[in-house]
Amino acid sequence: GAAVTTPWPTIRKTPGERAQANLKNYEAATSRFRWEAARAELAGLPGGGLNIAHEALDRHIQAGGGARLALRWIGRDDQVREFTYAELAAQANRFASLLSSLGVKKGERVYSLLGRAPELYFAALGTLKAGAVFTPLFSAFGPEPIRARMEIGEANVLVTSEALFRRKVEAWRGEVPSLRHVLLAGCAGDPPSGALALEPALAGASPTFETERTAPEDMALLHFTSGTTGRPKGAIHVHEAVVAHHITGRTALDLRPGDTYWCTADPGWVTGTSYGIISPLTNGVTLVVDEAEFDTERWRRILREQAINVWYTAPTAVRMLMKAWSQDPRPYEAPALRFMASVGEPLNPEAVTWGVEAFGRPFHDNWWQTETGGIMIANLASMDVKPGSMGRPLPGVEAGVVERSPDGSVREIDKPMAMGELALRPGWPSMMRGYLHEEARYRKCFADGWYLTGDLAMRDSEGYFWFVGRADDVIKSSGHLIGPFEVESVLMEHAAVAEAAVIGLPDPVAGEVVKAFVALKAGFEAGEALRRDLLGHARKRLGAAIAPKDIAFRQNLPKTRSGKIMRRLLKARELGLPEGDLSTLESEER
Ligand code: ATP
Ligand code: MG
Repeated sequence: GAAVTTPWPTIRKTPGERAQANLKNYEAATSRFRWEAARAELAGLPGGGLNIAHEALDRHIQAGGGARLALRWIGRDDQVREFTYAELAAQANRFASLLSSLGVKKGERVYSLLGRAPELYFAALGTLKAGAVFTPLFSAFGPEPIRARMEIGEANVLVTSEALFRRKVEAWRGEVPSLRHVLLAGCAGDPPSGALALEPALAGASPTFETERTAPEDMALLHFTSGTTGRPKGAIHVHEAVVAHHITGRTALDLRPGDTYWCTADPGWVTGTSYGIISPLTNGVTLVVDEAEFDTERWRRILREQAINVWYTAPTAVRMLMKAWSQDPRPYEAPALRFMASVGEPLNPEAVTWGVEAFGRPFHDNWWQTETGGIMIANLASMDVKPGSMGRPLPGVEAGVVERSPDGSVREIDKPMAMGELALRPGWPSMMRGYLHEEARYRKCFADGWYLTGDLAMRDSEGYFWFVGRADDVIKSSGHLIGPFEVESVLMEHAAVAEAAVIGLPDPVAGEVVKAFVALKAGFEAGEALRRDLLGHARKRLGAAIAPKDIAFRQNLPKTRSGKIMRRLLKARELGLPEGDLSTLESEER
């Protein structure tokens, strides 16, 4: 490995902070953890059944908590709608009753294509109650990605808005044979032929519904991956996953009943479902949902006015807030804020410590994937934070750094800070049960008792994991293995840099050479002088062998709609190669 000594000091937790955290002692909690005990905290259904929506809603109502606030929705125009657990359950029941009156059967597929509207939450929970399978799509997808995902997953029902339907679906609706029902929110007049207006249908449906007695291994969710490395895969998740959603919300996000919690991820991605709907509700918190897109001032206001206790966001958002801060460093007023976490991409040490400056507390990075269904590695509230590290495996999760041999066998590398593939011992409840229609690809993820994640990492002597890069993104230069994250984080240390992405380009001598793409903060001029300054800074910090040979300035970096930098696209463009699957690419104007 080529680890650079990090100049970022460990952020120590005080005894008081440790004592307050849900999980107070990592070692003790890890040694006594059992998934069966976590499962026993949930209610289950008669006959050994288990249903995610039952655990998220009805369990609280049966325990007398129906009057607690479940969802506070803030519209784009600042209109607020609130739903108690009992009210949210009634809405979910209406949706489930509607599905049942349409003849939708257990195991059939319900897709949503909606902005962050309350109906999205009714549909997600109602679908699960009805025993059908829920697949959320990001509302900003274009017609082709929508159609492709509906064909792969054989969608039976689509819940969307009239506007999205007209723009993106109507032209090909008749060509997807599995699609029997289209439910449209916000119909101005009569719905288009073959579609049903959602609000009147819900109003006419029964607010009581007996939750389908799903079995723990019944399919509940179909989630498509972000498409960062290639064509998105459809990961199958079952009702049993709720055991992991529930317990990891408490350990990794420090959620407590009665908390006000804000997850900024869209339910079109797995984070916005596992931790934007399911986990907060099973933990009895009030979920704040903002319909609007990212906006610095708006986010400031939400953190303050909504009195957010726990905030779960993503590195891209943090970097955008930092960029604004460089112009206007006003401390955030968020007196209720207790815990801040981030996921989705490596969180640069710069961003972790900026949290302390701006909020008085660090961002806690955590790591997981669509495939793992829930958080696997995390910086916990009671743990010292080493900026740049993803933290330690959660209780119940065994992680290792492994090496694949040419014969396909896999062995663990036990040396501290040795680089290898991040692997997990299968067995946690929210692990995917397959890639839909891609059995071979699924099987290839496993060897010698490990699930291989496709990410490279290192583990230090205290058990903290350090992300190196995706296996596809790692650069081999003159005998060095270079992880893009390390180089990007060093570039981020420079006052001018708002975002950085690093790729390897073929080179006849070195094998590959490092090239960096950089977006600047306001007030800095792209040009030769700055390029030389950045190259000098990188060489000083990383050494000439690892530092970029070239730096290009960009207004913005290409990202997926879930906010991940698409290094493969930068590379394809640089080399004049085909751009590959761009279905999840966010428009680059932003
Ligand atoms: P695809 O698999 O389609 O290429 P994707 O891997 O980006 O897309 P997701 O499942 O949404 O799809 O993302 C999981 C990946 O995101 C992880 O494998 C890892 O590469 C990255 N990631 C998530 N959290 C972190 C983190 N805390 N630090 C570093 N990387 C992270
Ligand atoms: Mg992936």
